[in-house]
Amino acid sequence: MTITDSHTHHAARGAIVNVSPAAFSPVPGMCYSVGIHPWEAGEVTVEHWQQLATAARSPQVVALGETGLDALRSPSPDVQQEVLARHVAMSEELSKPLILHCVKAFHVILAMRARLRPAQPWVVHGFRGKPQLARQLLNAGLYITLGPRFNAATACSLPGSRLLLETDDSGLTIATVAARVAEARGEDVAATLAAARATAAAIFAPANAVGPPNA
Ligand SMILES: [Zn+2]
Repeated sequence: MTITDSHTHHAARGAIVNVSPAAFSPVPGMCYSVGIHPWEAGEVTVEHWQQLATAARSPQVVALGETGLDALRSPSPDVQQEVLARHVAMSEELSKPLILHCVKAFHVILAMRARLRPAQPWVVHGFRGKPQLARQLLNAGLYITLGPRFNAATACSLPGSRLLLETDDSGLTIATVAARVAEARGEDVAATLAAARATAAAIFAPANAVGPPNA
């Protein structure tokens, strides 16, 4: 399967559909990411962790997440970091990349990556930061997903090999997002789509993506 949309909350083919562990009910031919969002990190129960551990082992789950850190929302940073750390451990154990939601806590993410030295790729989804911050993330080996809203200079600065596209919860089509990103990058939309698809194929274990190939 070719993945074009690396993060969506709507059921779609050619996409990584983000669901909570409790809601994981895989449809044949579709790919998923499962994780506990930082906003929900304060209400995680033993049952949630068990559901996540089970769902994460599904061959249709190609990434852990979205999880991460949001400095503008509860629960406390300590609680969010503990939940994130468990996802990092699971990502390493299962050899599946991590999709990160990060708001005003990039220094913590970078410090964690430097300390833990994970083998798995980390993907910052819905990135809206400036080129300087993007450069720091790229230097640390991270990947960046651009969605409905992004910094145009950042879009222009990203190497295609680290670029991914997403619709998130917007309801836009991935073609619309790709057209916006392509315009910011000053390239043909076909080139943007090709780059994002190649990046997704490189990091989201194609062998795990069961189902018929997409056109
Ligand atoms: Zn999302």
